[in-house]
Amino acid sequence: MGVFEKGMPWTKVKGTALLAASGDPSQEEQAISYAADLLRRGELVAFPTETVYGLGADALNPAAVQKIFKAKERPPDNPLIVHVTGLEDLERLTENIPVEVALLAGRFWPGPLTVVLPKKDIVPAVTTAGLSSVALRIPAHPLTQKLLAAAGVPVAAPSANISGRPSPTTAAHVIEDMAGRIAAVLDGGACPVGVESTVLSLLSKPPVLLRPGGVTLEMLQELLGVQIIDISITGAEEFKDAPPSPGLKYRHYATRAPIYLVEGEGEAQKKQLLALGEGFAMQGRRVGMLICEETGILFPAAAVELLGSKKEPGLVAGRLYGALRRLDAAGVDVIVAEGFSEQDMGRAVMNRLRKAATKIIKPW
Ligand code: AMP
Ligand code: MG
Repeated sequence: MGVFEKGMPWTKVKGTALLAASGDPSQEEQAISYAADLLRRGELVAFPTETVYGLGADALNPAAVQKIFKAKERPPDNPLIVHVTGLEDLERLTENIPVEVALLAGRFWPGPLTVVLPKKDIVPAVTTAGLSSVALRIPAHPLTQKLLAAAGVPVAAPSANISGRPSPTTAAHVIEDMAGRIAAVLDGGACPVGVESTVLSLLSKPPVLLRPGGVTLEMLQELLGVQIIDISITGAEEFKDAPPSPGLKYRHYATRAPIYLVEGEGEAQKKQLLALGEGFAMQGRRVGMLICEETGILFPAAAVELLGSKKEPGLVAGRLYGALRRLDAAGVDVIVAEGFSEQDMGRAVMNRLRKAATKIIKPW
């Protein structure tokens, strides 16, 4: 899709370097060192993590962080997650670290868990959108770790999509949204988890779940032995005036076509899915169905994205954003989506589907 840059082993798409970093080790090393150098110079680099592709900038360089907000068209009051390599970075960037952090770090880091802690002055206001707290994570993806180590700076990185769009889980998704807006994309293949990190605020006791993700509520409660307050399920409407996490008030993961989400389970849910699908088709609208494998047999003719079995919410999470982008690309007029149970990773899936939905239908 792109043109080769003179003297360089990679292509450029609208000026954005596409750095291949899977396969050949020497090519990977070259790609990482080029990307790390760009980050240190205050440029933007998108890179894979185990959750989704992040859009990175030096978190301690306000001018660099400012570029993230511009490239993503992100509202300036939505703070960023800072990615670091070790606990010593936590001490450098945060204060009043509660004892829970050691427990959480021992079990879930590196991994898809972000914690919110009081920030030190060294973290610029633009990175935290003016808040006195900062969100931090130690990612597990080997490429992310190598990039962070090579860059030698904490890296602020929201998902590498234009604000409001589904998060990218491949380099091609990043190029779709970001070509011409950022210096480079490190291509490390598809992201294994597929939805964003769990965000847990440790600013109060008990901790508050701000966003469900790869580390589930059940796992957190078992480790900490407390009931965690889950405010992530509640819709954006409730927090419009004073959201506990700024990101909660914005619509997310949106496709161009409106999404009708049918919650519940069993026969009532299936009937409602069929009725909506057929109803829209009879109006002459091109319908996209976003459903599980078990329901898939009901819709042989429609544009169907099968998310996997209802029994495997982890797989469903991994396929969700790619499926949303494919339905958009297929040019459907309306999407009918099936709701899932909220257990384990199902909680993260439903959180994303509800935020993406234009209308939520509860057939009971
Ligand atoms: P993104 O990186 O776009 O996936 O979004 C990061 C999420 O973390 C958003 O929902 C933010 O609102 C949330 N977040 C980041 N920093 C903080 C903070 N200091 N306090 C509360 N939420 C935060
Ligand atoms: Mg995002």
